Amino acid sequence: MRGTLHDCQILVIGSGPGGATTAALLAEAGHDVLMVEEGGHFVHDSAPAYSMAEMDQKYRNGGLTPAFGQTKVTYVEGRCVGGGSEINAALAHPPMASTLEDWRQRFRIDQFGLEPLGSHFEAVERECSVASMPGGLDPASMVIKQGADQLGWASSEVQRFWQYPSDGAGKGLRQSMTVTLVPRLLAAGGRLLPLTSVHKLRFRGGRAVEASATTRHADGRRERVRIRFDKVFVCGGPTQSPLVLRRSGIRGKVGDGLRLHPMVRVAARFDREVNDPAAGVPVQQVVEFKPDLTLGCSHAALPHLVMWLGGEVEDREAKLEAWPKIALFYVLVTGKGKGKVRNIPGFDESFTSYPCGDDDLASLGQGLHRLGTMLFQAGAVELFNPLPGRPSITRPDQLEQLRTGLPHGQLTISTIHLFGTCPMGEDRSRCVVDSWGKLHGAANIWVNDASILPDCTGVNPQLTLMAVARRNVAHWLDG
Ligand SMILES: Cc1cc2nc3c(=O)[nH]c(=O)nc-3n(C[C@H](O)[C@H](O)[C@H](O)COP(=O)(O)OP(=O)(O)OC[C@H]3O[C@@H](n4cnc5c(N)ncnc54)[C@H](O)[C@@H]3O)c2cc1C
Repeated sequence: MRGTLHDCQILVIGSGPGGATTAALLAEAGHDVLMVEEGGHFVHDSAPAYSMAEMDQKYRNGGLTPAFGQTKVTYVEGRCVGGGSEINAALAHPPMASTLEDWRQRFRIDQFGLEPLGSHFEAVERECSVASMPGGLDPASMVIKQGADQLGWASSEVQRFWQYPSDGAGKGLRQSMTVTLVPRLLAAGGRLLPLTSVHKLRFRGGRAVEASATTRHADGRRERVRIRFDKVFVCGGPTQSPLVLRRSGIRGKVGDGLRLHPMVRVAARFDREVNDPAAGVPVQQVVEFKPDLTLGCSHAALPHLVMWLGGEVEDREAKLEAWPKIALFYVLVTGKGKGKVRNIPGFDESFTSYPCGDDDLASLGQGLHRLGTMLFQAGAVELFNPLPGRPSITRPDQLEQLRTGLPHGQLTISTIHLFGTCPMGEDRSRCVVDSWGKLHGAANIWVNDASILPDCTGVNPQLTLMAVARRNVAHWLDG
């Protein structure tokens, strides 16, 4: 087979939080590492945050990919050096001890839990500058705090992967992978090959020995590439890692256990200004019902807001005039369904399905009712109905329509948190990789990204997956 040939000791496929952590730590330990990334390598401010240009540059499929089912769930993923860490809200939420303990028992994960992982959480928090927002809460976060306080529900600020300026001037800088782990990889002598997508692994004598890939050049030319390696870490993220494995002939349960956090957004108008475009991402969440339910607020730039105001386009433009008094909130639940990721022969993209069933809709309905109750407590005067074609909700008693019997196929449900397509653990009847990320039955293949988290985290997952990735590399280096 022809094509440009690269050689390395360790190939890391994908450069998101899982891949960049893996590659940097292995390179710093003296290994010869090549990290390949399907997307481009951009500086953090290569496009305005949340702009169309950013979506073109850094998002897979421009930001929206459907997971099919009775009720469709669209999911968002990064596709650039740094993966999701370049486009996300950078909320760094520690997992609940009970979630990790539940995974340890159900999937039989060795040496697992909040305590064994403690030093890795501390290292990630230190190395990626996890910090609280200086100067107090933004106005939308204050809405959450006030409403929750009045109802006696616990809420708290979620810290972020963020370096805030010490003098309080400016917004500071998201500590994404291109700012943290990727420079460390390069400083340690590791190599990065962007715009290069690995198609599949090839085998000789029971070992994976080579990856076939394609590099896209700036002039549109596509070049076939071969990468020879001794060991490989697949870190393409929860929908792409299973695709690489399945295209390589590794099937079994690979891609079978897709779990996710279904999410519904609601715009709400208040009697006062609640939307401060200079404030950045709101950080307050209701923690009272975690891990089953999270209530929070989203970035609400005008192009985002307009999507959630309902009604005809002209109607929305009129509503937008009140934008300083409108903010965007969300309900996020731990999905009960188990989806699948499959490759379609002849196509690069995945076919993803997720059964968003009655129980997910019931959880979302319960969550929407709670969210509405809290927003009215905090002074909301109008909730733009998340059910299309229905009038706005202007009184708490009208929230009942959301609590029960949400119809299938009508709500706009999305997700930004996916897991479980290559679950970790010693229970081979349900796990694709072992307790440390090594593919069951393989000699030299590891998976080390969000796809190995075996179930919903119930919290923002990046901190958990980076601590787990770090732990797995430390174990690998010890072994
Ligand atoms: C909009 C958004 C907001 C979010 N907000 C938060 C938040 O505030 N806090 C939080 O904790 N989490 C958040 N998340 C989730 C978090 O970003 C993800 O859980 C995390 O990025 C997953 O990391 P990963 O390494 O598993 O995969 P990814 O981040 O998806 O990275 C995988 C990388 O591998 C590349 N790749 C895939 N296949 C191949 C291939 N075949 N060859 C080469 N390269 C390949 C991809 O292009 C991608 O860049 C958010 C996600 C999104 C999309």
